[in-house]
Amino acid sequence: MPSITLKNRRIQYHVTNGRSSRYTYFRFRPDATLEIVVPGSTSINVEPAIREREDWIVRQHDKLTRSIRILDRDSVLFDGSRLKVVFEQTRGEESIIPDPERGLVTVRGPAKSTVKEMIRRWFLKESSSYVARALPALARKVGARYSRAEVREVRDWGYCTREGRLSFGWQLIALPEPVREYVLYHELVHLTERNHSVRFRARLSALLPDYRAREEELDRVVPIREEDCLGYN
Ligand SMILES: [Zn+2]
Repeated sequence: MPSITLKNRRIQYHVTNGRSSRYTYFRFRPDATLEIVVPGSTSINVEPAIREREDWIVRQHDKLTRSIRILDRDSVLFDGSRLKVVFEQTRGEESIIPDPERGLVTVRGPAKSTVKEMIRRWFLKESSSYVARALPALARKVGARYSRAEVREVRDWGYCTREGRLSFGWQLIALPEPVREYVLYHELVHLTERNHSVRFRARLSALLPDYRAREEELDRVVPIREEDCLGYN
């Protein structure tokens, strides 16, 4: 497959002929190879066209190659470590035994098909106990009061209502501790600063001088989605 170097990234690409007689399209495949669809039966030199779209291409490529998926094939991210999921069949009992030192988590259950749901319940329990453990002390540091905090299915990592209720995502425990902490601080600061204003950022930066680095790390993480499945052989 041909490749091109853009801003120090070597990007593999492949050219196909599309139905349009005029336009050239660019799209990325999930494996981060660039697909270039050129008009009809023409054969053109695509490199100038690639260079013209350089910024967009590099941004998309980075998204695909620098992302960290919580569930990736046969492994999960837990407490910032990647653990290989090892399934052990039982007659019905269910248990999850993480072993970060060996880089694996043993999931014992009646069927492979229940593994993902067991991981969800495990994450929910661990994320809840993390929030219960860490939030009160951080709230004191921020000087913020919340009425209630819960861990559940939320669209983003955290959420806060005008009434001072905080919600956090059930996948929080996948993140490394400093990144989890950032999520908690972020919502606590929202209790007094509703928007991502300059004041909000200033407040956050006073509490966590390296908050931007933590935020960037968070942005790379891809949560488990409904349709994801564990890729066992
Ligand atoms: Zn926010």
